[in-house]
Amino acid sequence: MFTCDYHIHTNISQCAMENMEVEQIIRAQEERGMTEIGFADHCYGFRYRIKKVEDAKKKISQCETAIKVHFGVEAHMLQYRMPSIGIEFASLFDYVLMAPNHYHIPGVSRPDANKPRLIAIHELYMFEAAINCPLTDVIAHPFLFFPRVFGVTKEEMSNFSLEVMSHIDDKRLAAALDMVEDLDIGIELSPKFISFGQNHLIDFYQLCLEHQVKLFIGSGAHSFNELNKISLLEPIISKLGITEKHLWHPYEWKW
Ligand SMILES: [Zn+2]
Ligand SMILES: [Zn+2]
Repeated sequence: MFTCDYHIHTNISQCAMENMEVEQIIRAQEERGMTEIGFADHCYGFRYRIKKVEDAKKKISQCETAIKVHFGVEAHMLQYRMPSIGIEFASLFDYVLMAPNHYHIPGVSRPDANKPRLIAIHELYMFEAAINCPLTDVIAHPFLFFPRVFGVTKEEMSNFSLEVMSHIDDKRLAAALDMVEDLDIGIELSPKFISFGQNHLIDFYQLCLEHQVKLFIGSGAHSFNELNKISLLEPIISKLGITEKHLWHPYEWKW
């Protein structure tokens, strides 16, 4: 199993647990034997966001640890050519994790209806939008479908997802993945799909590997419990034969 996790939320994200403090997370990850981690918060309040970024960077730099700690951000596409952050804000971070499918957030373009064919068309459109956005370093949880967003139960999710994927235009997806490889963009390998029974993602990750796309390991944790979920990826990593050479790692910027 790999010892990195580049998608961790601190309590800067309003949706994360209150006890998700930088130092405590680093200590917990030390105990788990992690060697490289990355914070990727969202929900930086508009007025205070620059100050929050500076405070978070300070907290990281003051924390003595042998772990390599990166500082990223999770943004999302609102629609084509419209990311939720601008270049100036993005430049404060080591990497931008761009979510194509934050459909629960107001302002994000949604499929016209919760029908599998329309969701497939829309998800691919948003995936292409994220790839074409010059700020994108990594695409967060593509083709991961959250049950409540589409009005289906967790039990129905597995079959529902397979039906959505059956409507994806294969040629367009292949062309999109070639562009991902060309631009050196990472694709997030997320343990979140496991509890939703989204086995279609194993085929998607397999396709990524066939197109020489690099995979990015991210738990998307909002709590200490969720940090442990990264280990749920183990069977997929061994099944797909993912090794170090298949991984995307953040750049090392000097702040
Ligand atoms: Zn997300
Ligand atoms: Zn996240």
